[in-house]
Amino acid sequence: MSTADAQTRCRLRRGRSETMLVGYCFDPIFLKHEAPGHPERPERLRAVMAGLAEEGLLGLLRPIPPALEPDRDILIAVHDEQYLQWLARLEPESPCFLDADNYICRHSGAAAYTAVGAAIACVEAVVLGEVTCALALVRPPGHHALRRRPYGFCLLNNVACGAEYALRRLSLSRIGIVDIDAHHGNGTQAQFYSTDAVLYISTHQAKLFPGTGAVMERGEGIGTGYTVNIPVPAGSGDAVLQAAFARVTVPALEHYRPELILVSAGYDAHWRDPLSALTATLRGFDSLHETLVELAGSLCEGRLVFVLEGGYDTDVLRHAICNLVWLLLGQRERCADPVGSAPRREADDPSCLDLICRELGF
Ligand SMILES: [Zn+2]
Repeated sequence: MSTADAQTRCRLRRGRSETMLVGYCFDPIFLKHEAPGHPERPERLRAVMAGLAEEGLLGLLRPIPPALEPDRDILIAVHDEQYLQWLARLEPESPCFLDADNYICRHSGAAAYTAVGAAIACVEAVVLGEVTCALALVRPPGHHALRRRPYGFCLLNNVACGAEYALRRLSLSRIGIVDIDAHHGNGTQAQFYSTDAVLYISTHQAKLFPGTGAVMERGEGIGTGYTVNIPVPAGSGDAVLQAAFARVTVPALEHYRPELILVSAGYDAHWRDPLSALTATLRGFDSLHETLVELAGSLCEGRLVFVLEGGYDTDVLRHAICNLVWLLLGQRERCADPVGSAPRREADDPSCLDLICRELGF
């Protein structure tokens, strides 16, 4: 199939005269960040790329090259300059652990910088209208990364850099970040805690790593009310997460009216994931994705960028992303769930949200 044919085929009609062109950014350097035995491993992304290829999806997407040298001012807006220099210089012969969670290998700095470049390139392609929506298929993940240090498998905060790029270089003034990873995105929250230019909304398992993300963490100064945390109890699954979207995430975004929606797309809320005790299914992720696509369509001309975060069951991650792409291409019926539901789901009770909604004023 020629590129032109592929582009024509993936221009699907949405609404009246809209078309939906879907882009993705991937770079082989993302597969070179590795340490033996660590759950944040290249096989995660390798499974996603194999799934997209085997389902014939890559030819239907527009490849977006990563920004090779991410904008220095953007990096410095999110991270300390000394930390950035240290990360760029560090090239150990063999992987070394900085602490219990975080490792660096020879290629980690290059992978981390390229992941930021991928998030920025996807944001730019969407905001400039080259594609309607895009996926940054990156490693290492980013939402835990702090200003001066790696944290929670994350080296640089990809989604935060993407948002800063949209604000500082593309003249946007209101960005929504929806974080569906099972862990709270403490790094992203910290970056935007004192601003009203970004609305950060996170659903995550309460009291799980990194321990932040309480309901009462709501922002400060002019940022007060622009951080929205929905910590759900262990055992929560599709019913709770969908209710959280319906009761909080959707109305909060509708009220805010973002010009662009970024998604910290982590899939470790799945029941089979080894790193959380949530019980979501692939069908549940499909439903969350569908809500985000509809919301972006009604609020911001469909402008939506998914930036990969966690998800440590490779089958789940592969199918979650393939299903997302089918959905974005307008073929919801092609979404598959070969993994099924959790054997036990009794804790998936949306009434756990009542107190949270009262605290948040929803
Ligand atoms: Zn996670």
